[in-house]
Amino acid sequence: MDHAATTYVDPRVVQAMLPYFTEYFGNASSLHSFGREAKEALENSREIVAKALGASPDEIFFTSGGTESDNLAIKGVMYANRSKNHIITSIIEHHAVLETCNNLQEMGFNVTYLPVDRHGLVSLSQLEDSLTEKTGLVTIMHANNEIGTIEPIKEIGKITGEHGVYLHTDAVQSFGKIPTNVDDLNVDLLSISGHKIYGPKGVGVLYIREGVKIEPVQHGGGHERGMRSGTENVPGIVGLAKAVEISQAEMKKESERLVNLRDKLIEGVLEIDDSWLNGHPSRRLPNNCNFSFERVEGESLILRLDAKGVAASTGSACSSGSGAPSHVLTSIGLTPEQANGSLRLTLGKCNTEEDVDYVLEVLPETVSELRKLSAV
Ligand SMILES: *Cc1c(COP(=O)(O)O)cnc(C)c1O
Repeated sequence: MDHAATTYVDPRVVQAMLPYFTEYFGNASSLHSFGREAKEALENSREIVAKALGASPDEIFFTSGGTESDNLAIKGVMYANRSKNHIITSIIEHHAVLETCNNLQEMGFNVTYLPVDRHGLVSLSQLEDSLTEKTGLVTIMHANNEIGTIEPIKEIGKITGEHGVYLHTDAVQSFGKIPTNVDDLNVDLLSISGHKIYGPKGVGVLYIREGVKIEPVQHGGGHERGMRSGTENVPGIVGLAKAVEISQAEMKKESERLVNLRDKLIEGVLEIDDSWLNGHPSRRLPNNCNFSFERVEGESLILRLDAKGVAASTGSACSSGSGAPSHVLTSIGLTPEQANGSLRLTLGKCNTEEDVDYVLEVLPETVSELRKLSAV
């Protein structure tokens, strides 16, 4: 139940990838038949991804993952439009966006980090008030990876469009779970990652709307129409495209199934004393649950659940790597202690109703064991 961290690779994706390691291993830049086969697979994959996003194949650029797509979108746009040195983002972005903005700030760019309300939503009026004639880019995630809140990207895109400012969205968590048509969302740039959608790790996509002024960040042999140099990861790209194709075919049914499991989980878990749900009650990803338990340390909870066969995650300080509790949970108003006592359960394709029942069986006793310990 930690599918927001990563997913297994769908066996159909593995099957689609395999021939591109051994049989069709050519370099897509080569003129001979080996190269042409690889090139064909690359362009076929580009069409599949474009179709899923409602974009044209010329607007699809393959990268090494969500992190690189976010870096390319933000740095690429800011480097290319030097007269505009102001970026607007939110304080609950993924680190791939936040640290990129921090880096640009250190280099002299101005960054506005918008706050969010207690459900994790960005305010449209605050966003509009933050726009200046110097704003070059707004980057707001489509759905949050910790609390699952879905941001009003379409409405944000309407505002940025009226002001002639580019809008980038990190759709790594939302793609394949809710619709992500780039025209419906009013976005100019959009990031996705293979390994969050049952595809391989180390491959991603950046959608760049035709006409957007952007510079490459990685230079070299001019691959991806000069936007992202480096010999293309053909097996990875073929796998990502297969994962995209499957996600589009199965999204509606699978998301409905996940919503039912999610809601059963939420209802059951909230029966535990002194617990609550973090994130938005309705504008939330079909697979995301995020709870806090008073007087429980998240790290201990994760380890005990792991011992009982449940993989989950927490926003506690120990697990964050930075020594601080989750910036997302503290941004929606939780105290460091409450953020430390959080539990994220993110459902996926392999989870069944029996899994949900099992968690509802073991979680209450685990929480109460930990509370007894902490009382001592
Ligand atoms: C996982 C994730 C990323 C990073 O993607 P990688 O492919 O792991 O680099 C970026 N943004 C969000 C919201 C994510 O969940």
